[in-house]
Amino acid sequence: APTVGVLGLQGGVREHADLVESLDAHAVQIRKPADLVGPDGARVDALILPGGESSVIDRLARMFGLDAPIREQVEAGLPTLGTCAGLILLAKRLENPAPGQQTLGILDITVNRNAFGPQVESAEATLGTEWGEIRAAFIRAPQIVSVDGAETRVMAHYGDAIVGVERGKVLGASFHPELTRDTTLHQRLLSFVG
Ligand code: GLN
Repeated sequence: APTVGVLGLQGGVREHADLVESLDAHAVQIRKPADLVGPDGARVDALILPGGESSVIDRLARMFGLDAPIREQVEAGLPTLGTCAGLILLAKRLENPAPGQQTLGILDITVNRNAFGPQVESAEATLGTEWGEIRAAFIRAPQIVSVDGAETRVMAHYGDAIVGVERGKVLGASFHPELTRDTTLHQRLLSFVG
C-alpha cells in the first residue's frame, strides 16, 4: 500500500489521515525533514498539506526546516495535495498575508487568503468539478484570484470563484474535502503514485 505523508504541524491532520486510511493507504505524519526525505529520496509516496491556519503552518514549517525539503520533493515529482491553508502554502503569490508570512511558492497562482470574508465564514456545497462531483466544506476559504502559469489547469469553481487547480501531480483546493469525507481528491492523489 502507498504511504501518504500528512504535514502534521497544525490543522486538519487527523481528518486527512483518516480519509487516506479509508482508501487502504498508509498515513504518516510529517513533522521534521527526516520524516519526509531519507538518503535515497522521499520516504513517502505522496504528501498532503492540510487546512488550518496557514501563517502558523508556515512559521512552524520554517522553524523545523521543512520548507526547503518539501519544495524540493514536490518539484522532484512527489504527488501533493494542498487544501485550504495547504493551498495557500503552495501558492507563489499571496494577497492578505499575515505579517512575515511566506509560502512554499510551488503553484503559479495568486491566492487571496481570506477572500470570501465574513459573508461566507463557512459553507458546504456540492461542486461539479473537472475531478468529478465533490462535496466541499469552505471555512474562511482562500480564493484563487488568478492562475498565472500556462501549465496550471483550473479544475473547480464555486460560483465565479476558482477554488481548485492542478499542475502535474500537484493538486490545490480552497475547500476541505476531508470534513465532508469526500475522497475524490485523495483518490486522484493516489492515482499519481507509482
Ligand atoms: N484563511 C485560513 C488561513 O489563512 C485558511 C482557513 C482554513 O484552512 N480553513 O490559513
